[in-house]
Amino acid sequence: MRSWWSKIFGDSSAYCWFCQSPRPRMIGNPIWEQLCAGCTEKRKILAYPQCRVCGKPNLIDDSFCYDCLRTPESDRVVNMSCVEYNHWARLVVQQWKYRGDERLSRPMGLWMASLIKQRFLHRDRFLITYVPCHRKRVYERGFDQAKQLAHIIGAQLHIPVVELLVRQRYQDQPQSKRSRDQRLQALVGTFSYQRKQMDLSGHSVVLIDDVYTTGSTVRECAKLLRRANLQPVACTFARTNSEYV
Ligand SMILES: [Zn+2]
Ligand SMILES: [Zn+2]
Repeated sequence: MRSWWSKIFGDSSAYCWFCQSPRPRMIGNPIWEQLCAGCTEKRKILAYPQCRVCGKPNLIDDSFCYDCLRTPESDRVVNMSCVEYNHWARLVVQQWKYRGDERLSRPMGLWMASLIKQRFLHRDRFLITYVPCHRKRVYERGFDQAKQLAHIIGAQLHIPVVELLVRQRYQDQPQSKRSRDQRLQALVGTFSYQRKQMDLSGHSVVLIDDVYTTGSTVRECAKLLRRANLQPVACTFARTNSEYV
């Protein structure tokens, strides 16, 4: 039995979900508190006021960022992210995505689920879908990362996960290495919408992806979802805090 001391002040038998260092354990800690002191200091929650569309932090007021202002209204997609894509978030994503550390899917997914619950769960007729990897990429990496996040989120919030998009084209060069125009060019025809037998029209869909950089991938997927009469919003684990790169 744990002592009264450890019940109140936590004990050292809990570990940070990212770097495995000991962390204090309190009953009912949310996932963003289940990090060690070092990771807590390094992770950056997105500051308000944020752009009311893409969630870009640190604006003067909660209106629109420059990127969203120059995006036609019909193409704008509301995005919410857990953390800023800083050095710490990049390490998390690299370890998960490129070193295949599937263990990280659960804490990342739970964090995203709490954000969706807070911001969007009041809507009814709700679905979850994700930005899919190409099947060749899934084979290389061993798992489809966004799909795994989507299933963790769906299970946590009791919302169905539906595979609505297929990635048709395999990209050998990562999006992050391309200029803005190259990205937009490379995205044309990359995804297609898979029609379902059930009538989904009018549903809200949360589109899951890991990182929001310029938003071009999310907007491209949202375009296909809107054509199918769905209402997309995006949820990403991390987002960059810079203008178009
Ligand atoms: Zn840590
Ligand atoms: Zn914006």
